[in-house]
Amino acid sequence: MESTKTVNIVHNNEKLSVDTAKDLKAKLISSGYKVSNTFDDLADLIICIGGDGTFLRALRGHDFPSIPVVGINTGHLGFFTEITPNEIDTFISKYNANDYSIQQFTPMEATVCTRNDCKEVKSINEIVIKGNKSRTIHLDIYVNNNLVQHFSGDGILIATSTGSTAYNYSSGGSIVDPSLNVLQITPLAPINTNAYRSFTSSIILPADAMIRVHPEYHFEDSLLIVSDGLEHRHSGITQIDINLSDQKINMVRLESYEFWSRVTSKFL
Ligand code: NAP
Repeated sequence: MESTKTVNIVHNNEKLSVDTAKDLKAKLISSGYKVSNTFDDLADLIICIGGDGTFLRALRGHDFPSIPVVGINTGHLGFFTEITPNEIDTFISKYNANDYSIQQFTPMEATVCTRNDCKEVKSINEIVIKGNKSRTIHLDIYVNNNLVQHFSGDGILIATSTGSTAYNYSSGGSIVDPSLNVLQITPLAPINTNAYRSFTSSIILPADAMIRVHPEYHFEDSLLIVSDGLEHRHSGITQIDINLSDQKINMVRLESYEFWSRVTSKFL
């Protein structure tokens, strides 16, 4: 079938990913697709070759595009990546036949304000607020302008549903079915003693929740913000606002994709 669709291929530098990209490019061209040499913002499809880390970096590097995206896993955990290098032919024929669905997920954004200005940070999995030295931090956490708790501990992690299987899960947070669009606040080593009281479990919030975090004054200069593994250092942080974004990531899903069997096969 002739097609004039354009595909962006993004890959990491591992040999298998580079070889897979060459093979994929040749197969796409022989199926009538145009493969862009540089990232085309108007392309019809992004194919990411690598692991979840490559996937996250590729989307972040192109400002979380709405172009449908699919991942080819070349030997990592591969929670986002759905197909293997051996399944390229099957994928192309299913994509040609429109035999796929689009699963949307929502990134989140944080506005980090210091005494001087405010900066935006976006992420797909999570935003972590923690101390940049090995000291306890104290945070006031508000939801929709209501003070929910004075947190004391290593920090907090705010995860999307998509990110629930990543750092959130390792930190004792809940795995969330992707059909539920929620935000989850997961404590990192919360202190729960006579001196300090913090929730020890995650809090699950609806999609429109507005989370606000105020660091205790003395700790303003010792916070580290980490979005999907990328560190952001700002001094004098006074307030961090976090909510789900209006942007959507559109994942191409083949019929065989099923979230819970994926969780079972990757984690158990
Ligand atoms: P990374 O090496 O790129 O990723 C660490 C591990 O997390 C890799 O095995 C990665 O899969 C996996 N992963 C990423 N997103 C996932 C998701 N949505 N569901 C399940 N597993 C996922 O580490 P990084 O560059 O520091 O940060 C990238 C992500 O890693 C962060 O967003 C964070 O969620 C996660 N991370 C986890 C921990 C932890 O569990 N203790 C600590 C730091 C960061 P691949 O092997 O396929 O790349």
